[in-house]
Amino acid sequence: MAPGWDDRQLGMNRRITRRDFLNGVALAVGASIVSGAAHAQGAGPDLSIEDPLLARGIAQQDPRYYPPLLTAMRGNHPGSFEVAHQLRDHSFWQASPEPEATGEQYDLVIVGAGISGLAAAYFYGKKARPGARVLVLDNHDDFGGHAKRNEFEAAGRLLLSNGGTQSIESPSDYSLVAKKLLAELGIETDRFYSYYDQKLYSKLGTACFFDRDTFGADCLLTGMGRKPWAEFLSGAPISDVARRDIVRLYTEKVDYLEGLSVHEKRAKLAKISYADYLTKYCRAHPHVLPFFQTYPADLFGVGIDAVSALTCFENPDDYGSITYPGFEGLGLSEPPEEEPYIFHFPDGNASIARLLVRALVPGSIPGNTMEDVVTGRLNYTRLDREAAPVRIRLNSTVVRARHLGDVSSAEEVEIAYVTSGKVSTVRTRACILACYNSMIPYLCPELPEKQKEALAYCVKVPYLYTHVAIRNWSVFERLGIHQIVAPASYHTYVALDFPVSLGQYRFPSHPDEPMVLFMLRSPCKPGLSRRDQYRMGRFELYSTPFADIERQIRDQLQRMLGPCGFDPARDIEAITVNRWAHGYAYEYESLSDPDWPPAERPCVVARRQFGRISIANSDAAARAYTDAAIDEAWRAVNEVAPDRQGRGKP
Ligand SMILES: Cc1cc2nc3c(=O)[nH]c(=O)nc-3n(C[C@H](O)[C@H](O)[C@H](O)COP(=O)(O)OP(=O)(O)OC[C@H]3O[C@@H](n4cnc5c(N)ncnc54)[C@H](O)[C@@H]3O)c2cc1C
Repeated sequence: MAPGWDDRQLGMNRRITRRDFLNGVALAVGASIVSGAAHAQGAGPDLSIEDPLLARGIAQQDPRYYPPLLTAMRGNHPGSFEVAHQLRDHSFWQASPEPEATGEQYDLVIVGAGISGLAAAYFYGKKARPGARVLVLDNHDDFGGHAKRNEFEAAGRLLLSNGGTQSIESPSDYSLVAKKLLAELGIETDRFYSYYDQKLYSKLGTACFFDRDTFGADCLLTGMGRKPWAEFLSGAPISDVARRDIVRLYTEKVDYLEGLSVHEKRAKLAKISYADYLTKYCRAHPHVLPFFQTYPADLFGVGIDAVSALTCFENPDDYGSITYPGFEGLGLSEPPEEEPYIFHFPDGNASIARLLVRALVPGSIPGNTMEDVVTGRLNYTRLDREAAPVRIRLNSTVVRARHLGDVSSAEEVEIAYVTSGKVSTVRTRACILACYNSMIPYLCPELPEKQKEALAYCVKVPYLYTHVAIRNWSVFERLGIHQIVAPASYHTYVALDFPVSLGQYRFPSHPDEPMVLFMLRSPCKPGLSRRDQYRMGRFELYSTPFADIERQIRDQLQRMLGPCGFDPARDIEAITVNRWAHGYAYEYESLSDPDWPPAERPCVVARRQFGRISIANSDAAARAYTDAAIDEAWRAVNEVAPDRQGRGKP
């Protein structure tokens, strides 16, 4: 903690907007929300923590139900994962009564209301016979999966942010199927060239924050990537040898792999970590490592100890202008230039999820354009109506998907799910599991062992996507920066939100206006294997209370920006911590994964159709991208959908 600062000075006692009130209903969304009704009867599983809305008796059918406005701990929020963890620990069925049949029957039940699940419902609607019925179940209190929407009211105005899935990345590379879906939803990505202000931040630069615990002194240096490296680092609290070597790495153009062919160089870089490349091949002193350690954290969720040098070379553009040094003299052909990172709705790809919901449930959001969806208020009471062809049921964790009869001949699948401690079942002719790969073996224990192993190979990448609404962003303007790289701090990256305005939504372009700050934490544990780092990081996220994270946020912002006038007690208006314990799909990487033949890659084995059950989700592609989620939905729907006359599959 900043020397001399206590909790009071940091503002831990301050009321944070929306933590206390939601639509006029008192809602303490603190760490200790204890469910009353759900397990008072002693029937259902012991859920000691419940969703903040349900805990206050505000269910999905209640007009006050509006999760985007909730702050504090979001993402995998309290109440969303406890049942799944009981299933994992094999304690769920022991404690649970026989499920109760709802009597509901569907043509398709989709598990997971992320972009993949929603896209599957959309594609199915195009292929299935008229009148086909679809149910989408999700364990969270909001749909969208990672593509969640965060809303804030700060200084009297609406601010939006992406709870997870940030942007449509490289839309030109999307498959024809994914491009067509975006087009049908009304998304024209070219329009972002005018909606996204590419000039505003180009005037502002990047700072680096060296923290006391790692570097010996708290020190914020501006001009990173702009000033000559020697000048930029002249005031850094690092050893002379570290300063000399970082400058050397960024300025000299040496072939550190001299004597190897281009092919051999790439093969070598693929099998050594970037940390080893720096110290063993570029001969940099190990003192440089803390400076570079978290460069790859935003893309890979681990540091340079666990990512290959080749991966760093091929993904050069972290933090915009700051690149990985050491490759310039190798004579390798540069990776192809990517489209600008501007395809961003104010709530990120939550707008894609919302557009899908608007298409699936007519009337759920007013309007009909990609612009008006941004500020259109969603009516959650419409999502799960009895007569509707598509129903989206939230707060519902699926605990079993089993064929009624032999897998090869069964006519139906029974889906069991838990809502507020009650276990219910529905029946369906087909099922798409658009959830997490690692969850599927628990839902379908009868799957072949080889497939279960392949599903379990996917260890999702944990992250904190923290959003802090602040009174104004004048401190950033005074410092001449829009982002801070903080290599060894709790949050390793801090940035002003994306400068994008569309429809009626206006980005806070003046420094006197309130702003949302994005803060990234990758809770990795350097030194372990990449997948173990993810497992340990997930444990950290689930075991850290919101108050501890809030203290870290306030302390870090004070230490970085306090000397320039920022006061966390005065300037912070709201905090939303999007806890993605199960974040990005696991992507294969040359340092930690074998080079399997395409057909033997775990994601390919994992996604095999099993009777009337198919598997979607970005895990099924081992690619953590929206287009992968869409493409996998398309494949899964083609596996299960009958033709429009009702003949055929599955
Ligand atoms: C922090 C973050 C940032 C990202 N940024 C980007 C980006 O900028 N661009 C990009 O293209 N991609 C990004 N991604 C990747 C993102 O995962 C995909 O783009 C896409 O949103 C994944 O959609 P999905 O439907 O496959 O999975 P998910 O979004 O994970 O949806 C699956 C849903 O299934 C639910 N579920 C799981 N088990 C059960 C169960 N038993 N019962 C009921 N429901 C269940 C889950 O809780 C979840 O809601 C990001 C991911 C994260 C975590």
